[in-house]
Amino acid sequence: MGYAKAFSIRHSPTPLVIVALGAALASCAPKAPIEHTRTDFVLGTVCTIRLVQGGDDKLLDSAFARLRQIEDELTVNKSGSEIDAVNAAAGEHAVKVGADALAILKKDLGYSAMTDGAFDASVGPLVKLWGIGTDHARLPAKSEIEAARKLVGWKDIVLDEAAGTVFLKRPGMALDLGSGTKGYATDQLVAMFGSAGVKSAIIDLGGNIFVMGSRPDGKPWRVGLQNPDSSERGDYIGVADLSNKTMVTSGVYERFFIQNGKRYHHILDPATGYPVDNGLTSVTIITGKSFDADGFTTALFAVGRERGMQLAEKAGVDVIMVDDKHHVYMSPGVSKYFQLTDPAFTYAE
Ligand code: ADP
Ligand code: MG
Repeated sequence: MGYAKAFSIRHSPTPLVIVALGAALASCAPKAPIEHTRTDFVLGTVCTIRLVQGGDDKLLDSAFARLRQIEDELTVNKSGSEIDAVNAAAGEHAVKVGADALAILKKDLGYSAMTDGAFDASVGPLVKLWGIGTDHARLPAKSEIEAARKLVGWKDIVLDEAAGTVFLKRPGMALDLGSGTKGYATDQLVAMFGSAGVKSAIIDLGGNIFVMGSRPDGKPWRVGLQNPDSSERGDYIGVADLSNKTMVTSGVYERFFIQNGKRYHHILDPATGYPVDNGLTSVTIITGKSFDADGFTTALFAVGRERGMQLAEKAGVDVIMVDDKHHVYMSPGVSKYFQLTDPAFTYAE
């Protein structure tokens, strides 16, 4: 995908998981397990689920039905969702939402507090104004940015867990739970697959990866780290050997546009109203639960490398950060299972 096409919603035909190896080995194994694989467009992205050992087509039906349900509840791109109802009632009244929305919003409010608002679940007005990733993406006027920025403020989100309601205190406010939805959805599928007796699977929700179990030959799955300079899926700069782990990345290559040689990407700084500009090009988390990774990558990206590294350590997740000088920063322990494969990138320390 070239820059010219970068406006379109991301399409990722090639999952980042380096599948060829596993598939080749599976076919040589004495009893090759029957795989069940499906790719579909849901949650605003291309999702591929590969059931490698255990499960069947019916399980894939249930998995995609669950993803659709989560999308229908949480999307801000279609009217009729729970989040749409919350946004429409901003400044007026609280709205009852379901367990999915409550869980994600609660998590997001934690990130907002942790980052002093660099991550903000009420970033909706800015996201809408920029339209990054849509066909109406544009560089807004300063006055528009200022007006939208004033409507962002996580402290004016009232979450009443007991009542199961959300209230946005000021008219014009808007939630955007986009940053963490895929991670939440991934864990839902991991639980579903676990109960169904699946031993080995790859869940790839637009690059939000979870690898269950191991390859048919018993070795860990190999998961590629996307080259942040490239929008071509499958162009990776390093490889992680993982099993029962998630690998989630937030990067400048996901959704962006280029104007006058400057890249405007989709992680916005509520303090300035412009895309975060701190030298980072991608932030990746590797940990056991996808819900602890997606959303948090956005938060770490927003606060920048040094603070981000500290927050990751405190939270007990592994992180890989790449900057615009092609330096790669990793938390201790990552080198045990990850190595760079692209000589254009170097370990920072
Ligand atoms: P993905 O959509 O692949 O999960 P990210 O995790 O990087 O991508 O999240 C980016 C999305 O998060 C944006 O498209 C937008 O919906 C939302 N977002 C942008 N800036 C912020 C922010 N400062 N705080 C919270 N959410 C944000
Ligand atoms: Mg995310």
